[in-house]
Amino acid sequence: MASWLDGALAARRDRVRSRLKPVEVSFTPVDNQRLANLCGVLDENLRQIESALDVTIEAQILALLDELRSRRNLAMLLVSHNLGIVDRLCDTVSVLYAGRLVESGTTDEVLRHPRHPYTKALFQSIPVIFEERGSGRGTKLPVILGDSARSSLPRSGCPFEPRCTERMSVCREREPALVNLSASHVVSCFKYES
Ligand code: SF4
Repeated sequence: MASWLDGALAARRDRVRSRLKPVEVSFTPVDNQRLANLCGVLDENLRQIESALDVTIEAQILALLDELRSRRNLAMLLVSHNLGIVDRLCDTVSVLYAGRLVESGTTDEVLRHPRHPYTKALFQSIPVIFEERGSGRGTKLPVILGDSARSSLPRSGCPFEPRCTERMSVCREREPALVNLSASHVVSCFKYES
């Protein structure tokens, strides 16, 4: 017997399918060949486009995707932990934590002015390679303490609360709603609720 979860997932799939519109896209023979090569590379080596590739191949693949996107006026959804690639390729960025949207906005808003404590912590954990001599050598990178696997377990409150350095008492009581910081920038955090 199908569980309620199977039913809910099937209903969600149907809703998504009903909103998708078929788009006709034709590629030149050269594009087709390049895409076939790309699919071969992805199929053999990857679960994520940029993982397990040397930087030269990675740059070529990303340049090809970007070129096809722009030439064919296509949309591209990129799922990545590599914020450098996100910065280079994306117009808008959505940050998820434990399967929930915690911040979304233009690339400039999210990457240059992150507001959610998780987004800020992600940026703080990026190593800085070229630094002024003596300014940061020997200092440890901050890490996000706690266990990410436990965050997806059902619990009340903000999903990031157990690991958040800015948590307040209300953060354990209920989940924060999305708050508009601008017309395009939203964040899910009690710090920004008025
Ligand atoms: S709602 Fe509270 S726990 Fe969640 S990210 Fe904001 S400050 Fe941290």
